[in-house]
Amino acid sequence: MKEKIGCCCYDNQTIFLDQAIKQLNLNADQKQLLLQSFREVSVQIPLKVEHGDKEIIRTFTGYRVQHNHARGPFKGGLRFHPNVQIDEIRALAQLMTWKTALVDIPFGGAKGGISVDPSTLSQQELETLTRRFVQKMEPVLGVNEDIPAPDVNTNPQVMAWIFDEYSKTNGNVPGIVTGKPLELGGLKGRLEATGYGVAYITSLALEQMNMALKGAKIVIQGFGNVGSYAALRLQAMGAHIVGISDKDGGLFHPQGIDIVAAAKFAQETGGLKGFFGGEKISNEKLLALPCDVLIPAALEGTINCDTEEKVQAQLIVEAANMPITHMADEKLRKRGIIIIPDILANAGGVIASYFEWVQNIQRFDWERNVVQTRMEEHLARAYEKTSSLAKQADVDLRTAAYQVSVSRVLRAIELRGF
Ligand code: GLU
Repeated sequence: MKEKIGCCCYDNQTIFLDQAIKQLNLNADQKQLLLQSFREVSVQIPLKVEHGDKEIIRTFTGYRVQHNHARGPFKGGLRFHPNVQIDEIRALAQLMTWKTALVDIPFGGAKGGISVDPSTLSQQELETLTRRFVQKMEPVLGVNEDIPAPDVNTNPQVMAWIFDEYSKTNGNVPGIVTGKPLELGGLKGRLEATGYGVAYITSLALEQMNMALKGAKIVIQGFGNVGSYAALRLQAMGAHIVGISDKDGGLFHPQGIDIVAAAKFAQETGGLKGFFGGEKISNEKLLALPCDVLIPAALEGTINCDTEEKVQAQLIVEAANMPITHMADEKLRKRGIIIIPDILANAGGVIASYFEWVQNIQRFDWERNVVQTRMEEHLARAYEKTSSLAKQADVDLRTAAYQVSVSRVLRAIELRGF
């Protein structure tokens, strides 16, 4: 069967969920309850933009999907990307429900986005677009309702605009959004949290596989916030990052790329284009590099039936959300490749978001080492729970992780009685 990629995130998600549902012996009504979104909002945002020497009006579509809030307020990021559409946001919102449940933080799941290529807008246009999105979504957001955060192509500055716009009509509510700049109630360590969490989970998985992290060869696809901090941390822990890439292509160095220099370069220039720390390779070749660990940290569906065959790693750690299609997932597992699922691998970010939210509600300031230690404690508990269930039930790690999450969400639904 030929695989459809890009437009079928929700189908992928449903298939992954199905595997856990079978293990748990749930009926069709329970499955329906778990699949459906609580609320899906879409808004049209007209914006005057510069076009050559004149101004034109373009209209952008924005979404917020709130999947489930049985365990706490809806929580999840906001992405700015031309591929954003309802099917993708719906799947990612559901993923957040399972992620927050797996790492046992008191949130549900949501996701939002605007279908836009932010590199085509000026900073002023981007700010206006963000503020209009907040104006239109304001009725469904709230510190105890739904709390956005950064995701693909959004950053602390975008979160600061969200906080400011929301606060115009609701008073000073820093907990309305997480991933803010430190000066506005942001959390020390939030920016690095997802990448550092990926590095920590990689170390736990390698240890269980009796493989040393020191000297391990690691390839990372994607050098944004998540990929770059994961690379920095893993290199500091002694691994050799032999391949990295961003949207303009990849770099390979058999002895390891100087990640500190690459991260500095990317921060100053906005990407890796023009960085000469290794041999230039295509993104496709990058996935095929010989290595111990492959970390997809870009967009969904990059490891699919066209690319899966070439993967040589023994361990894949899903730093991005949904980077492996379900068909590729099955083939990789048959080849004995261990996959640490996204809801575990990249959960460091939302755990740190939880700490930021708590800090904001308490009007208190947590120290960086406290954040790091507590985040690792949450991740270690979730890793242990997932891997022991996988062994006991003789299932893969994704199915085990979903089993843990789905049971927790169902239990909350039953207790609340709706
Ligand atoms: N966007 C991140 C994720 O997919 C973080 C979400 C959050 O902190 O709410 O997990």
